[in-house]
Formats: sequence, structure tokens, C-alpha cells
Amino acid sequence: VKGLFKNDYRFFDREMKFSNQRAFQVKNDLRMGLEKNQFYIVYQPKVSPNEEIVTSCEALIRWKHPEFEEISPAEFIPLAEEVGMINEIGDWVIENACKQLQLWKSKGYDPIPVSVNISPSQFLQADFVEKFWSYLDTYQIEPSWIQIEITENLFIDNEKYVQQILKIMRKRGIKVALDDFGTGYSSLAYLQKLDLDILKIDRSLISGVSDFPIKKEIATTIVRLGKCLGMKVVAEGVETKEELDVLCNHDIDEIQGYYYSKPLDVKAMTKVLKTKVLS
Ligand code: C2E
Ligand code: CA
Ligand code: CA
Ligand code: CA
Repeated sequence: VKGLFKNDYRFFDREMKFSNQRAFQVKNDLRMGLEKNQFYIVYQPKVSPNEEIVTSCEALIRWKHPEFEEISPAEFIPLAEEVGMINEIGDWVIENACKQLQLWKSKGYDPIPVSVNISPSQFLQADFVEKFWSYLDTYQIEPSWIQIEITENLFIDNEKYVQQILKIMRKRGIKVALDDFGTGYSSLAYLQKLDLDILKIDRSLISGVSDFPIKKEIATTIVRLGKCLGMKVVAEGVETKEELDVLCNHDIDEIQGYYYSKPLDVKAMTKVLKTKVLS
């Protein structure tokens, strides 16, 4: 038995070393990724389920790494936060989403709101709002075309400051979504204090919602709660017709998930903009 544990330990050790090496290299390569234009954005449609039309979309970053190929943002965003590269990468996303919106507009498409994910440290930069407005100015973006998605950990230790900034942004017409609701501590106190526009129910609460009565109860209660507080409610990660039906019966505003569409490259998203329906 002793020997077995020893082996397990060694195996574990080797695995750890391997993933640490990769993390080390990924962290090192982030700057190169920016400089060599290896990042790009995909857009995932959000659908109004009653009319089945695409009403907005979320910008999601992608990285085509020369050696590791596609690296998921779930892997490299936390590493970018760790080494302080998230501000530059986050700025890159906002600027390029604005550029894309301007391009769509110039080609005669009716832009739909694009939401961008904002990491806490990015939001907390002293010049965050200033830079945000400068991108809107540069690319002539209407505030209603761009939304931000923040998570509740942003408020930890910074509640007053964050509220101030959000107030300024919302006053100018930027809609704010609370992302990943239902993970973390999901303090209900935040919800009533914060004056947010959109509540996004996390995928972990949506997946299997049609199979487990307790999940259904929780998800539909959150929908009702959001609506009571005057928010738009979005369900994330809807993959099946059964999940969709549960949510539609409860007055959900938007659905985002593989059931309707995976994130799309620019070309495919442009096609969607023409008709606002998914084929
Ligand atoms: P998120 O903000 O919660 O984004 C939703 C994630 O769920 C996306 O993963 C999306 O592709 C995935 N998803 C959507 N519908 C479904 C579904 O039906 N089934 C399944 N299995 N997955 C679905 P993605 O693009 O890999 O992004 C992962 C996370 O990385 C994001 O989670 C977000 O936290 C972060 N991220 C992505 N882009 C950015 C960015 O530009 N800035 C920052 N700060 N974070 C980003
Ligand atoms: Ca998000
Ligand atoms: Ca989310
Ligand atoms: Ca999520």
C-alpha cells in the first residue's frame, strides 16, 4: 500500500509540474499574443425566446496560440489577472468590440447590443471609465450598443466605489449585467442595493433544470426575483428544448446557450445580423 501511494504521489507531482510549466508559458506568452494579433472575438447570440429573434450577443475572447492552438479564456483569463495583463487584454476586447460595431454600422446593419466581460481589476483601474468613453467616442458607438458584464466578487471590498462608477456609466446609458448569478455567495442584499439592469443566471443552475424539481424551483425563483426588482433576466447555458421550456414558462427575457447557438465568428455573426434569426 505504501508503494502505491508513493507512485500516486509521484504521478501527481509530475502532472502538477506539467500544468505549472504550461501556465508559466501561457503567462509569458500573453504579451506576444497581443502584439502578434493572436486574440480574436467570437459573439454568442442571446435570443428572445417568444419571438425567437436574436436581441443581443456576448463578446467572448479567443486565443489562437502558435503552440497550444486554441486556449480557452477559462484558462488564460485567470492567468492574465495573476500577472497583471488583464487590463491590456480587457481594453483590447472593448476596443475591438467597438471597432466591430462600427464596421457593422457602416455596412448598414442594425447593431444589436454587444456585452463585454469586465474583470474586477480591470474595472477598478482609475482610468477605466475614461478609457471606456474614449473607445465609444473614437468608434462612434451609441451607449445602447454596448453592455458590460460584471460578477459579484467585484463588490467585495469596493462596494461604494463600484456603485459610484456604475451610476456614472448607467447615467450615460450603459446597461450593466450581473454575470454568473447563483455561483459565489449571491448576496441578495447586493441585488436590491445595486440598481443593475440585467441578471444572468449561471449555467450551473440551468443545466438539468428540467430534470430536477429543486433546480427548477431555484431557477424559476431567481427569474421571478429578478423581474420583481425590475431587471431583465437572462439564462446562460441552455442546451436542450426541455430546459428552454421550463424557462419560457417563467417569463425569461433572453436565452443564451448551445440550444440556439454556440459563439460565432464574425462572419457567421454578420449573417445573423442580417435577419436576426438563427437558421
Ligand atoms: P462567461 O462570461 O460565463 O461566458 C459564458 C461561457 O459559457 C462561454 O465560455 C460560453 O461559450 C459558454 N457557454 C454558453 N452557452 C453554453 C452552453 O449551452 N453550454 C456550455 N457548455 N457552455 C456554454 P467561454 O467563451 O469559454 O468563456 C469562459 C469564461 O471566460 C467566460 O465565462 C468569462 O468568465 C471568461 N471570458 C471570456 N471572454 C472574456 C473577456 O473578454 N474578458 C474577461 N474578463 N473574461 C472573459
Ligand atoms: Ca459573461
Ligand atoms: Ca456567465
Ligand atoms: Ca459562467
